[in-house]
Amino acid sequence: MKVIEVIRTMKSYNWLEAINVTSEMLGNPDYRLPVIWISALDCTGCKEAFLRSFEPSSLDTLLNFISLEYSELLSAASGYQAEDHKESIFEKYQGEYVLAIEGGIPGSDEFLMIAGKSVREEIILAAKNAKAVLAFGSCSAWGGLPAAGENPTHSTDIRSLLPECIPVALVPGCPPIPEVMIGTLLHIHFHGELPELDKKLRPKAFYQTTVHMACHRKAFFDQKLFAESFNDQGAKQGFCLFKLGCKGPAAFNGCESMGKDRCISAGYTCIGCSEKNFWDKGGFVGKRKR
Ligand code: SF4
Ligand code: SF4
Repeated sequence: MKVIEVIRTMKSYNWLEAINVTSEMLGNPDYRLPVIWISALDCTGCKEAFLRSFEPSSLDTLLNFISLEYSELLSAASGYQAEDHKESIFEKYQGEYVLAIEGGIPGSDEFLMIAGKSVREEIILAAKNAKAVLAFGSCSAWGGLPAAGENPTHSTDIRSLLPECIPVALVPGCPPIPEVMIGTLLHIHFHGELPELDKKLRPKAFYQTTVHMACHRKAFFDQKLFAESFNDQGAKQGFCLFKLGCKGPAAFNGCESMGKDRCISAGYTCIGCSEKNFWDKGGFVGKRKR
């Protein structure tokens, strides 16, 4: 069998281009976008991912572009101090702060309260005066893991919880791509509004194509060269993982188009983590006959 060379279509990601920011626009260091980040039923993976952004780095983002006023995990303060500060931001930056939500929102307080308060009500309250609400991760975007199966916590997604008049953008993924979370936030920072969204409320710039269409293994797919197991010769030669259950053809996300090494580069199938109900769509890998 003739081994074809992998054609790397990966482009290097340029965050300034992705969100239409010119270098002149970077010259206003005095303003930072206030952000309140509330965690509902989450695993903290979205925040962990956020901290691993390379372009721009999370550190640059936190020091130069946003002012993270509240996060249960990342705030230096805790307890009453952190809670009081959060409440003060609702008033001080009324209509100016971005509310980031991570995790599914439980249907009842018996499943989650923070600082003795209903997290569900706290999110509704915080959203009322927010400039925009961002659902970080598939849990807040679609219900995700907490809503999987029989959904014992009656978890819901953020859009179903809030009235239509509150602008919401979904940034799904489990976890989402760090640069996509930050890119969406920084679009608001630089342009004062949410980026253009698709019909499912995802930023078009990052979710307009499937993982498959931009995949660096697509040349193998087109030539019907497939790995049949994770350790056969095909896998070693980087063949397409479709027969191992890759869900890239049905997954809209920027994993491959943004040119970073992710699941498929690591030799693993795309599990479609940015798609609705992906936890309930059967096994993450599985042999296809075709
Ligand atoms: S989307 Fe994934 S990484 Fe984020 S909180 Fe939910 S399970 Fe964790
Ligand atoms: S099926 Fe998966 S591995 Fe194959 S080209 Fe599509 S996304 Fe890439």
